Parts: sequence; C-alpha cells; structure tokens
Amino acid sequence: MQDVLVIGAGVSGLSCGIRLLEAGYRVRIWARDLPQQTTSGVAAAVWYPYKAYPEDLVVGWSRVTYTELMALRHDPATGILVRTGLEIFPWPVDEPWWGAAVPGYRRIAAHELPAGYVDGYVFDAPVVEMPIYLRYLQQRFEQLGGAIEVRTLSSLAEAVTTSPLVVNCSGLGARELAPDASVFPIRGQVVRVAQVGLSNFVLDDYGPRGIAYIIPRNDDCILGGTAEDGAEELAPDAHTAEAIQARCQALEARLGTAAVLEHKVGLRPGRPTVRVEQQSCANGQAIVHNYGHGGAGITLSWGCADEVVRLVRGVG
Ligand SMILES: Cc1cc2nc3c(=O)[nH]c(=O)nc-3n(C[C@H](O)[C@H](O)[C@H](O)COP(=O)(O)OP(=O)(O)OC[C@H]3O[C@@H](n4cnc5c(N)ncnc54)[C@H](O)[C@@H]3O)c2cc1C
Repeated sequence: MQDVLVIGAGVSGLSCGIRLLEAGYRVRIWARDLPQQTTSGVAAAVWYPYKAYPEDLVVGWSRVTYTELMALRHDPATGILVRTGLEIFPWPVDEPWWGAAVPGYRRIAAHELPAGYVDGYVFDAPVVEMPIYLRYLQQRFEQLGGAIEVRTLSSLAEAVTTSPLVVNCSGLGARELAPDASVFPIRGQVVRVAQVGLSNFVLDDYGPRGIAYIIPRNDDCILGGTAEDGAEELAPDAHTAEAIQARCQALEARLGTAAVLEHKVGLRPGRPTVRVEQQSCANGQAIVHNYGHGGAGITLSWGCADEVVRLVRGVG
C-alpha cells in the first residue's frame, strides 16, 4: 500500500483523502487550519459552478459532484438539503453553460421573476451546511484510517521530502506553496440570519445594486454577497453587511424581520483555471495539484477528487 500526503483540510483535501483511502492508499493530511477554520467552512454553500474555469472541464467535475451530493443527502449526518433555486438576470440570457450538469433545469416563467428582472433558470440543487458536512467528511476520512496533523508548510518541497506522493489541496495557500502567482483571493462576505419560512434559493449576480444571493437552510439563511478580486481583509465590514441585507430584502421582503446571527468572510481561491495536474519531481517523486476552485470548491469537490485519484494512479 502506497503512502500519499495531502496538504489541506478543506473540502478539496478531505474529499481527495476519502477517495484515495477508498482506492487503497494510506493517507495523511497536513494542514495549517482544521476543516472548520478553512474557507470551505465559510461557503454558502449551494451547488453552483461560480467563478471556476475552464467551463468544459468545470461542467464535467460539477456533474459528478451534483450526482454524489444528491446521493449523500439521504444521510442526515451530511447536512445536505435539496432546494429549488432561481437564478435571475436583468437581461435575456442563453441556455446556461452548466446545463448539462443539472438534470431537469428549466427556463424561469415570467410570473416567477421579481420586478426588474427579465430572464433566468429554475433548478434543484444541493445546499450544503458546511460546518455539518465538514464534520461528516472528517469523520469519514478518519474512519477509513486517515489522519490529520496541524502543520504549516512554507513550501511543497518540505512535503515531498517526507512523502514521494503529495496531493496539493491548499486553496489560496497554493499562491505561496506551489508557488503560483496566478492564484488570487476573491473576498466573499456573507450574513447568516434566522429562517423566516423561506425554501427556495435565489442567485442574482447582475442585479442593479450588486450581487445578491439567498440560501435558505434548515434553521437559518445565508445572505450574500460580495466577490472582490484581490481583497484579503478577513474582518467583516458593517456597511457591506447592511448593503447585502438590503439587496436580499429587495428580492425577498420576508427577510426584513430576520434576526442577524453571524457575519462571515472567506477568501475564495481564484485562478484563471482550476489546476488539477500532475507535476513530476526529482527521484520519481510527484505532486498532484488540486486548487484554484474559485467560488465553486464544493461544487467541484468530488469530480476533482476522482480526477486526482486517476492522476495518482498514473504516478505509481
Ligand atoms: C462567501 C463564500 C461563499 C461561497 N459559496 C460557495 C458555494 O455556494 N458553493 C461552492 O461550491 N463554493 C462556494 N465558495 C467557494 C469555496 O468555499 C471554495 O472554493 C472552497 O472552500 C475551496 O476549498 P479548498 O479545500 O480547495 O480550500 P480551503 O477550504 O481554503 O482549504 C485549504 C487548506 O489548505 C491549508 N493550507 C493553506 N496553506 C497552507 C500551508 N502553507 N501549510 C499547510 N496547510 C495550508 C489550509 O489551512 C486549509 O486546510 C464560497 C466561498 C466563500 C468565501
């Protein structure tokens, strides 16, 4: 049985760790942050391929993950719900580029559109309560025999000297670790509010006042959002939070009475393209990279993990 060292304990590292263990490898994870403290822990998180490229690869990874999350929702320990969602636009749109990944999506009907919007899509998608899901993934990883160690690396060379096979799932950390100058943060701020009887999610990336999304979960709703390229401030901004609430209330009046529970900020790992790729090192050692998932790390997680296993198998 061959050893694999995975760097990172977000959704990418845990999903890869699980798939590698299931494929018969011995797996350890080294991570600076444990799962609940990662960007993955901040995600909204609805299945939707947002700010991740190239589209032709992303649609395939997204389709695999859609199917897997839909199957996992039957286990209440995963924290996965299925919600019907509306994606709305203030102008006419073509068929969605991601349509092949979602069985049964349809065009929105005129009576379903809020005032000021002219087109959109309606589809069912998994909504993932990340604190619950990450706990589930971590337990599944550990029950399969995996181990997580808190450890901060300054380069991947440190990892390669310990293990001949390294899987790099370090998210934004790949900017320094790989090192990869094309990786950049896309700051996202969200407001968690109490449930007020909402069931449908709403995605509005092009509204007149800016990005707005409403993700209803069992006991609360996540309101978003922002997507600021290059911004790294992790403290929530009060004005930004008020603006998010106002944009979401304009789409859903019932949110006007929703109590605010929490403010959160995360730095999405942006990159011109998701990097799932093998890099050969000296002495037959290898690194398989899996990072740069932008605003879609959960949406791509199982598809990319399967690809990582294929690449690892190819190494040895
Ligand atoms: C506000 C917001 C909303 C979002 N909503 C969605 C959504 O609805 N759907 C969706 O699919 N995605 C969403 N995302 C995007 C998603 O959160 C990310 O794409 C995903 O979390 C990336 O996961 P990852 O495991 O690759 O990276 P991370 O979760 O960032 O994990 C990286 C891991 O690498 C470790 N690491 C980094 N550097 C080092 C180092 N030097 N040494 C050791 N370890 C290191 C970290 O400690 C961590 O354990 C959202 C993000 C934000 C911020």
